[in-house]
Amino acid sequence: MGRAFVYVILGGGVAAGYAALEFTKRGVSHGELCIISEEPVAPYERPALSKGFLLPEDPSRLPSFHTCVGANEERLTPKWYKEQGIELVLGTQVKSADFRRKTLLTAAGETISYKILIIATGARALKLEEFGVKGSDAENVCYLRDMGDANTLVDLMKSFPGGNAVVIGGGYIGMECAASLVINKINVTMVFPEEHCMARLFTPKIASYYEDYYKSKGVRFIKGTVLSSFEIDSDGKVAAVILKDGSRLPSDMVVVGIGIRPNTSLFEGQLTLEKGGIKVNGKMQSSNSSVYAVGDVAAFPVKLFGEIRRLEHVDSARKSARHAVAAIMEPNKMSEFDYLPFFYSRVFALSWQFYGDNAGEVIHFGDFSGSTFGAYWVNKGHLVGSFLEGGTKDEYEAIAKVTRLKPAIENIGELERQGLGFALAISQKPPQPTVPVNVREADLIVGKPIYAWHATAGVALAASIAAFAYWYGRRRRRW
Ligand SMILES: Cc1cc2nc3c(=O)[nH]c(=O)nc-3n(C[C@H](O)[C@H](O)[C@H](O)COP(=O)(O)OP(=O)(O)OC[C@H]3O[C@@H](n4cnc5c(N)ncnc54)[C@H](O)[C@@H]3O)c2cc1C
Repeated sequence: MGRAFVYVILGGGVAAGYAALEFTKRGVSHGELCIISEEPVAPYERPALSKGFLLPEDPSRLPSFHTCVGANEERLTPKWYKEQGIELVLGTQVKSADFRRKTLLTAAGETISYKILIIATGARALKLEEFGVKGSDAENVCYLRDMGDANTLVDLMKSFPGGNAVVIGGGYIGMECAASLVINKINVTMVFPEEHCMARLFTPKIASYYEDYYKSKGVRFIKGTVLSSFEIDSDGKVAAVILKDGSRLPSDMVVVGIGIRPNTSLFEGQLTLEKGGIKVNGKMQSSNSSVYAVGDVAAFPVKLFGEIRRLEHVDSARKSARHAVAAIMEPNKMSEFDYLPFFYSRVFALSWQFYGDNAGEVIHFGDFSGSTFGAYWVNKGHLVGSFLEGGTKDEYEAIAKVTRLKPAIENIGELERQGLGFALAISQKPPQPTVPVNVREADLIVGKPIYAWHATAGVALAASIAAFAYWYGRRRRRW
């Protein structure tokens, strides 16, 4: 038995939802599009699972966070898919893909064929067993990737009011879960091998701010070591976590956030893989021209940095999905995907955003004893990354804009002195008559010397030139 569609999206997560909306905006006909997902629910905003979903009071529940609410778009409920004539094949795992025949085989034995396939299979949580530790199947150990995991975590929190939780891993899942556990009045110990939390992104100075904040909420950190085993009780539950140095942490529950692995196994040997994901071009098209890949599973060219990257962030899932659909529906109109990497997190009353690349020299700015501070990264003489905690909407927009511009930075000390003001100056409205009016088009290309920031010329002039160039560049893009 089998069904045939023009377009099939394999995977029903964030990217799938945004792709579906884009298909409808671009005139997909009823019956042409199908989404196959092993999850039992229509696509939703996954970041909600470690935030609103875990709140003790008035927690977020579906349908409130179906895609695409995260981008202030329509909320796509199952009814919406029905009205649009989009087939949702839920609770269905695809077991194999045959790209020569253009077919997918589901676990239920159905063959679904396509003309164009979008792979949006995302990633899975890494398991402790992959690091030689047994015990993931104990009922008080949980991961957090999908709704099933989130429900398990909620049930565990309810079962152990005032109990002890050990969080394994200091990345964003660990940090967000730890915050939610504390809000649920659970005592939290975080264990991770790095010297500080969020080691892939945070500098020691930034990390120390968050760790101090967490400590003020009662979280205990055990750093530079790993879990070696679980002590299992007679009910098969974890009673304690044993660390490599032999110490024993009594625990009512364990939350594991030790990273993810893109879901590529169905495609190995059939598509070119890179950086652990499916390699695609600037149209999100894989090595097979009928197959596109988006979201966490896609390794795509990041023009701004001139290299292939695979990102694990929701904004990239949303935008890459839209871009792929646009490229499929209007191939002649679409330019290459030009993406500024963006990542955010919200914990307790804190909220930060990061844009670009955290490579090169770090320049911290702001008040690290207060609530608004940040950092710039300067690599090969250009500002390539910006981080801001506690910013306003305008301030976040400003750091996004300045990062995309990649201005040349010649005076690090001045950048440090200006701090957030540098980004704000650049993002301001176009400067008035004193700005150069004879800017050559070539100078407006990001990273060209027009942005050179000479200490002698003064920061204000540099910022006003850059602001003009930014405004001028935007004008060109828009019209
Ligand atoms: C708890 C949590 C919190 C997060 N918070 C943030 C945040 O604050 N900020 C941020 O930038 N990012 C955050 N992220 C990351 C963000 O959610 C992901 O980048 C995003 O979900 C990726 O979208 P995707 O569509 O590529 O993959 P996913 O959303 O993971 O969707 C993949 C889908 O494919 C399905 N699937 C996979 N294989 C098959 C198969 N063989 N057959 C059928 N279906 C299949 C899966 O079941 C799933 O439905 C968070 C992630 C998690 C888990």
